[in-house]
Amino acid sequence: MVIDVHHHLPFDWEPYVEKLRKECERLGIDKIAVIAPVESNDLLVEALHQHGDFLIGMGFVRLGEDSPRTVDHLKGAGCSGIKFIWPLKNYDDDDFMPIYARCEVHQMPSLFHLGIVARQSTDRLMDVSMARMQAIQLDRIARRFPDLPIIGAHLGNPDYHIASELARMHPNVYFDLTGSTLKKKSPEFIGEVFWWARNEQYGKMGHGVPPYQKILFGTDVEVELMEDVLGDYQRVMDTLDMSEEDRSAIMGGTAAGLFGLSDV
Ligand SMILES: [Zn+2]
Repeated sequence: MVIDVHHHLPFDWEPYVEKLRKECERLGIDKIAVIAPVESNDLLVEALHQHGDFLIGMGFVRLGEDSPRTVDHLKGAGCSGIKFIWPLKNYDDDDFMPIYARCEVHQMPSLFHLGIVARQSTDRLMDVSMARMQAIQLDRIARRFPDLPIIGAHLGNPDYHIASELARMHPNVYFDLTGSTLKKKSPEFIGEVFWWARNEQYGKMGHGVPPYQKILFGTDVEVELMEDVLGDYQRVMDTLDMSEEDRSAIMGGTAAGLFGLSDV
């Protein structure tokens, strides 16, 4: 099963999902985890009602405004995971622990935006700061909620070394390589930060998950650019001469497990 773990639905989602279905069929993508359009969970839930066979819902939770009950509500409404971005304090602030506890109880994979973030007209209103969305802040969350599947976006761009070490240390931490990461960094660089994949002694340490299998396929672009991102992932897997097991885990096998879907 091929799963894209990071995709945004636009406000006008209905015609978009039709296009998305066609393109995913062409590219061999079976399921796609979609983030609430314009942070509207109501629109996401509507989309899930119509396309539940294809879409995996990632509800939006605003850390600092929403409560743990928001997570319960999203679970009840059919969302499988949660997307976090623009927190009002650091991701690892005490205040947010009850929210992560709820995500863990419900086994909702949690996708954290990390690092650089586009500038938008709403930044002032949303009080956006990239200092609150750093890879290192996942460390406390991963230790405190060992059964919470954590997906860090963009391999922590630009904190790649910290992000990959978190993947090594924590059985429950995974990363996608979306955003500008595969444009500015070479496949060899990805191999470098996942260094323990090439070290027999360290490769067997940790928690038994093969190193490259901590990478998840995601696109985070509009439908027209998905093929380009797929090509970038392909280049990384080819250049690093990854095994068939690693490739199928990256492309969806691991995500299927995290989202409780049976792999095919
Ligand atoms: Zn995104």
